[in-house]
Amino acid sequence: MASDEKSVLLEKIANQVRMCEKCRLCKTATNGVPGEGNPHSELIFIGEAPGANEDREGRPFVGRAGMLLEFMLNQIGYKREDVWIGNIVKHRPPENRDPLPDEIEACKPYLTNQIEVISPKLIVTLGRFSMNYFLPDAKISQEHGKAHNLIKYHLYPVYHPAAGLRNPSMKTELIKDFLRIPDVLKEISLKKEHIAETKNAPFQPPEVARNDPPSSEGGQIKLI
Ligand code: URA
Repeated sequence: MASDEKSVLLEKIANQVRMCEKCRLCKTATNGVPGEGNPHSELIFIGEAPGANEDREGRPFVGRAGMLLEFMLNQIGYKREDVWIGNIVKHRPPENRDPLPDEIEACKPYLTNQIEVISPKLIVTLGRFSMNYFLPDAKISQEHGKAHNLIKYHLYPVYHPAAGLRNPSMKTELIKDFLRIPDVLKEISLKKEHIAETKNAPFQPPEVARNDPPSSEGGQIKLI
């Protein structure tokens, strides 16, 4: 997809989010929070839903959890604007309550389309809700820090930065998992290269056939 085409399509989705009235959340929220960042990023981060700061500014992860996210991004060599950041639910749930299943469902087409446009190499899910959006039965305590190869993309669940701010041992795990992101990306690239090489390699007859001279039996050439 051409470089500007991605930005145009993402802006179209962003405008749909800003106008969205598909669930009750738009009635109590101030602004829709479509997500933002580099449309060409190989790496995207998906949180749960906007909080008070995000609702006020219409931008994702601009509060304390966002500061921790930015700090960790810097630790692995990225600036915030190098990657794309969004949420599964685009309007703030009142009093920061958990998003309800019908709210998550109503919002689904936005994130689905955003991911389709960006086509990232790796989706990092921040927290349980975001992970369960992609892996419905998974437990974050078991799956954080493990890469999953889904059909269209790779997924890497980590704890939510807000949980890290509340709980020091989760923060330690979160930072540890975050520091592995560059290696996870490298592993994905190596796997892709290997698949491409295997596909493009010229046909090689089996080892035995190349090493042993063919024997003939009754006029028929046998390979072994
Ligand atoms: N928490 C989230 O899950 N998303 C935000 O945008 C901010 C805080």
